[in-house]
Amino acid sequence: RRTRLIAGNWKMNNGIGEAAVLASRLGELVGTAPEGVEVLVCPPTIDLSVVADKIEGTDIRLGAQNCYWEKSGAYTGETAPGMIRGVGALYCIIGHSERREYFGETDADEMRKARALIDAGITPVFCCGESESVRESGSQVAFVCDQIKAGLAGIELARADQLVVAYEPIWAIGTGKTATAADAQEVCGAIRKTLAELFGEQIAEGVRVLYGGSAKPGNIAEFLAERDVDGALVGGASLVAEDFAAMVARA
Ligand code: 13P
Repeated sequence: RRTRLIAGNWKMNNGIGEAAVLASRLGELVGTAPEGVEVLVCPPTIDLSVVADKIEGTDIRLGAQNCYWEKSGAYTGETAPGMIRGVGALYCIIGHSERREYFGETDADEMRKARALIDAGITPVFCCGESESVRESGSQVAFVCDQIKAGLAGIELARADQLVVAYEPIWAIGTGKTATAADAQEVCGAIRKTLAELFGEQIAEGVRVLYGGSAKPGNIAEFLAERDVDGALVGGASLVAEDFAAMVARA
């Protein structure tokens, strides 16, 4: 089976002091990851260094929440993939629905970011997911597969095995409303098929596809029981060390 990935997206939470405390606590609780499970934390950019320090020597991996695609230069406020790699992060979330909605990011932007990250030796965690109105119209599969094609088609075949995809239905994010495991499987299975069309069966079988949206200790096992769900991208519950650790333990 694919190595599971339980990833915490802290979003814009935790200043440097709180980040240090949470990261240390996670080191105590999940510093040794269970067999076949990878644990990832994605703090705000400003916390990356301190979290890197606190998780050093543990199995916990570090990721960023966003990046820019240029290597350096006059891009005020942005962070280059090489800088993220430089603090020890191996993953970076891209295309989160909050970035698409509040910061106007497009599929073309996500494609540039994905390429730049892979060039810097970082695994992109490419987020996709439909809004409530798309879900109500029943076109979630077509919508998400189009996002995958538009955001990832430009990845070189030889490097497509370095991708992670996170399916996060927007109506389930931070709402307490979760997709059912069957809803998650429907879309995650379709994502894998689309990856197979783009990159071939073998690569598609190796890519981890995560579910995100009100994932918590009480529901993670149901999602992970589905064939095409390989982990979770966790928002709210990743801010509480015990909850996040309980999710890792159930993976
Ligand atoms: P919640 O787990 O808080 O619903 O957030 C999900 C998410 O957006 C993770 O990226």
